[in-house]
Amino acid sequence: MSEPTVEKENLPEELKPDVDLNALEDPEEARAAADRLREALRYHNYRYYVLDAPLISDVAYDALIQDLKALESEFPELQTPDSPTQQVGEEPRDELGLVEHPLPMLSLKAAYESAEVHNFDETCRRELGQDSVRYVAEPKYDGLAVELIYEDGRLTVAATRGDGETGEDITTNVRTIKEVPPRLLEQGDRPIPEHLIVRGEIYMRRDEFRDLNQMRVDEGKRPFANPRNAAAGSVRQLDPKVTARRPLHIFLYVLVEADELGFETHWDALHALPRWGLRTNLERLGRYADIEKAIDFHRTLAELRDDLPYEIDGVVYKVDRLAFQTQLGSRSRDPRWAIAYKFEPRQATTSLEDVVFQVGRTGTITPVAILEPVRIGGVEVSRASLHNQSEIDRKDIRFGDTIVIERAGDVIPHVVKAIPDARDGSEEAIEIPASCPACDAEVLMSDDGKQASCPNPNCPAQLRESVTHYASRGAMDIEGLGEKRAEQLINADLIVRLSDIYRLTVEDLVALERFAETSAEKLVDEIEASKETTLPRFLYALGIPEVGAHTAEVLAQHVDSLEALRTASKEDIERIAGIGPQISRSVAAFFRDERTSELVDSLLDAGVMPVNPYRDEAQRPLAGLIFVFTGTLGRWTRDEVKRLVARLGGRATSGVSGETDYLVAGPGAGTKLEEAEDRGVVVLNESAFVELLLERGVDESDVTGLEM
Ligand SMILES: [Zn+2]
Repeated sequence: MSEPTVEKENLPEELKPDVDLNALEDPEEARAAADRLREALRYHNYRYYVLDAPLISDVAYDALIQDLKALESEFPELQTPDSPTQQVGEEPRDELGLVEHPLPMLSLKAAYESAEVHNFDETCRRELGQDSVRYVAEPKYDGLAVELIYEDGRLTVAATRGDGETGEDITTNVRTIKEVPPRLLEQGDRPIPEHLIVRGEIYMRRDEFRDLNQMRVDEGKRPFANPRNAAAGSVRQLDPKVTARRPLHIFLYVLVEADELGFETHWDALHALPRWGLRTNLERLGRYADIEKAIDFHRTLAELRDDLPYEIDGVVYKVDRLAFQTQLGSRSRDPRWAIAYKFEPRQATTSLEDVVFQVGRTGTITPVAILEPVRIGGVEVSRASLHNQSEIDRKDIRFGDTIVIERAGDVIPHVVKAIPDARDGSEEAIEIPASCPACDAEVLMSDDGKQASCPNPNCPAQLRESVTHYASRGAMDIEGLGEKRAEQLINADLIVRLSDIYRLTVEDLVALERFAETSAEKLVDEIEASKETTLPRFLYALGIPEVGAHTAEVLAQHVDSLEALRTASKEDIERIAGIGPQISRSVAAFFRDERTSELVDSLLDAGVMPVNPYRDEAQRPLAGLIFVFTGTLGRWTRDEVKRLVARLGGRATSGVSGETDYLVAGPGAGTKLEEAEDRGVVVLNESAFVELLLERGVDESDVTGLEM
């Protein structure tokens, strides 16, 4: 038997029976041990599949399954058809309707160490009588496994795995997922088979998951624990309209009975899928005859894991040659030609030592658990989000509790649940404080009593969060302006409002502690460079409630410019596909609000020029052109003309370089004019510039220089 690393779980014996297999000789004792394991496993299945609230990590669960399997193989008389080792997945939900799988949907045997993969390879080679066996390696997606059946090229059935024999009928819901073709494409040299069964995984991308969860938390709804639960919950819906609104994706990874369709290898079958319009992640496939190389694939993917937009929890190795797969067959419910080599788990158990109340950029107060540090997937975690008071109450989490936390990629770790059985009576209730921990203002509670916030617009904690968010990588990407730096600058009164970052000078910075001249110069350069940005980045950076990175992209795809969005009505915004009433209300309110509107103006006045990369060329008459302005213009101030150029798709930079297309010079032009002439850059006066604009189809109202 394999020996997976099992983390210490603070669970009572009956939920995590410790069975010493070597010490078991008496069949009666073995029977009692098997009963204990089964009882525990049934309970954990119920927690996982029915409640969506597992008590133990996947690793710990698999260890129990392995113990039971080992016990059953040593004492075959203990095997029963209803043993958890004989079940693949969840109990199907009757309300959805049931579908019998044409062939059972098997689960994969899991490995946690490379030695187990070597064993797998040895067994395959021995059984097949081959010196080496070729494997296809693919990511193991952490989503919802599904089966799609196409008859004469039309999608007729979509089903969950269910218990492996029978799944839930999710056809209506799956039809709402854009990436699932209702009809197969006919192209290339492979005609569409009359009868085609494919299997794959429905998943939610991490950024979309984050946005969805943020929205749910803001609405006082229960957030999903992870992208997998969010995807599963979205698909296993009774109302397909709910599914349709959720951002869902699919990767197909098995063509069932591919040999009967004329394929010799799994690899070839996978490569045929996209030609029928079936989405397959060919980019992340590997094929190896050398098991060491196959294991390297696991290592590489583990390193890439946090950078992938979707969640994966391991690598699946499948014997490539289909005839070999048939030869190897399956044992109980595991195919013998495949194995899942899992990554380190994302969940861990630790204790909650303290709770701090963090003030967000919009004033919301979030309880954050301070933990006894614990390693999850190679990263040490000492803080985890508790979301809000209603989540604390719902999960009944107390000071001093033993808790399970989960880290999902770059998502901030969160507390999954407490383990009440581990309490000794000294645990205490957690409550939101009455005053803001940063500025002492009296804390406001939302009407439903779920969300606490600091109402003080000048709260230093809110400003620090705004600055940090604005500068973050997905936003304006100003390197070197993290939380510590922001706090330092705010404390020194150098930043009183967000746009003040554009007034920082090297002299200001070097006067502060821990600021070397070079890092001061670097930061000022970074800040300057951030002025040239894209509309989605800027929208995200503004920290509009409900607008995450993904929503910012969607908005930018559907509006011409920042100005257009600022003047759009709630109804205009709501007409955009993928934007619900919640977001549109929030966006419209943000740009109507005097304070936030002033904030946007102050940033634009400071020289920030968001360009919308989604505007097509016709709407971007200056696309690809770089302008430099010098001297005074009659129609526009310097900032106005820069904004105009940005809006029309061009770029305005401050210095003449080899890339500059035009220098626009007004009276009082300085050295830039000489530089431009030296470099052979075309120099335009104001009227020639206006002529150029009109020639390129710019609307006359844009060249009046009046309100843009
Ligand atoms: Zn405050």
